[in-house]
Amino acid sequence: MHRTPRARAFAPSVVLLAALLGACASVAPPAPPRSPSAPPPAVAAAPSPPVQAPAAAAVVAATPAAPAAPYAAAVVARFPDPPVAPATPAFEAGRSAFTGNAELQAQLRTVARDAKAAGVRVQLLVAGVSQTGQPIEALLLSRQADLAPAALRAAGRTTVLLIGQQHGDEPAGAEALLVVARSLAQGALAPLLEQLNVIVLPRANPDGAQSGQRATASGIDLNRDHLLLRTPEAQAIAGLMRDYAPAVVADAHEYPAIAPYIDRFGGVARADALLQYAMAPNVHEFVSRAAEEWFRRPLLESLQREGLNSDWYHTLPAAPQERRVAMGAPRPEMGRNAAGLRHAVSLLVETRGVGLGRTHLARRVHTQVVAMQSILASAAARADDLAKLRRFVENETVSHACSGETVIEVAATPSEYVLKLIDPASGADMPVSVAWDSSLQLQTLRARGPAATGSRWASARRRCACAAWGSPCSASRRRAWCAAKPTARPRARRWSRAPARCCRRWRRCPRCSTWRRAAGTCRSTSRSRTWPSRRSSPTPRAVTSRRG
Ligand SMILES: [Zn+2]
Repeated sequence: MHRTPRARAFAPSVVLLAALLGACASVAPPAPPRSPSAPPPAVAAAPSPPVQAPAAAAVVAATPAAPAAPYAAAVVARFPDPPVAPATPAFEAGRSAFTGNAELQAQLRTVARDAKAAGVRVQLLVAGVSQTGQPIEALLLSRQADLAPAALRAAGRTTVLLIGQQHGDEPAGAEALLVVARSLAQGALAPLLEQLNVIVLPRANPDGAQSGQRATASGIDLNRDHLLLRTPEAQAIAGLMRDYAPAVVADAHEYPAIAPYIDRFGGVARADALLQYAMAPNVHEFVSRAAEEWFRRPLLESLQREGLNSDWYHTLPAAPQERRVAMGAPRPEMGRNAAGLRHAVSLLVETRGVGLGRTHLARRVHTQVVAMQSILASAAARADDLAKLRRFVENETVSHACSGETVIEVAATPSEYVLKLIDPASGADMPVSVAWDSSLQLQTLRARGPAATGSRWASARRRCACAAWGSPCSASRRRAWCAAKPTARPRARRWSRAPARCCRRWRRCPRCSTWRRAAGTCRSTSRSRTWPSRRSSPTPRAVTSRRG
């Protein structure tokens, strides 16, 4: 079951009013007023990988004390630990804390050194600095000689970005990505580097990890900040997305598996992993299809082989008496959706962990490792297809700039669903039927562009001789169109000099390629400019505007 094809125009700034419930935990904390952060730091390579562990190694992540199992032994027995514990500091003997920030930095340097010794090309990236001054570090692993972003892009190899612990109280992702990084450096995953470049960002929110809280130090939820980029943590991820243009992004989270389910349905969640891919409107349908067919289906099989349960990612209603459950919201400011709008196959993996402390920690980390391994294997197997997909989607998107439909507001589709829960006393399966808002099929409530009806441009479109007026155009879209159409560049360059502030009044007819003025007079600029003529264009057109 797929989303119905929607608009293809790339609209990262689309405003979605169909705000559904928040993701991957209960309710996002309110965003407090905060002074703007420093400018986005450029992603910089750290001096050299084999650096000694930071001296301030005393910082250890705060963590709830390992609790007694929060439910009956029969439930505990449903989640046996894997045979081998993950090899991270959190699993050292007698340990009760998760891997601390300084320990994580030291681990990355050790992995980098070992990777180098094994012949892997590796670079320690400082993607940014957190609000309290903690470095946000990632490892870039590849077989390519030149690891500069431009060289990587020019080589055309598929890049995968793995992100962990955007929420500080969801530790399994960071622990798992340390395991994955080590496996890529000198373990079973190393052969995948023949096809892939992999960036491992184990801990995107080091401040939250240190204090054991979901949000960043300022209280802003990092995974709701991927459009406005108010936090340096979100800027760090955006910098990686910008510089390395990953074709695949995997985002590791954890979800609350006990309290909200018991409050509403009397059971606890059974799924080891909740899965979803980008489902925002305007994500290209082929990107969604690739996520489903090339990644999610193999991922389901991988989890099944390991005896791990999975389900669609969902969030529970805020009020305990409500029984309506929503799939992950289609809001573009969330990490998975923001990456999907950048044409990356973007997957979310949430293990059952929030509120569990260290209960089942080895299994949670193992689940994340299995998921990341599957995603990396799928990316390697589909590396060529992903490159073709990326080219196609980018070309098609820019070809629709200013003429395609852009979805502004959507609603999920109401349906029924059976949640797979467990009886907290007996440990038996306890399926519960719920009302389900499906994000697999998004209903368009409001759109703009040729297919939109009732818009204020409709009358202008009707007056156009070609009856094919484009959608409201922005200067940035026009620039993107210009850059992507080399054959049209001379003309496009001149067009790109068009008064951007007037573009709300001027439309390019997609059939006859002439610029036409919509009804009304531009009131936003005082410039006067003559538009360039084309052979097929009837006459040069004078654009006269005045400040209103
Ligand atoms: Zn989360």
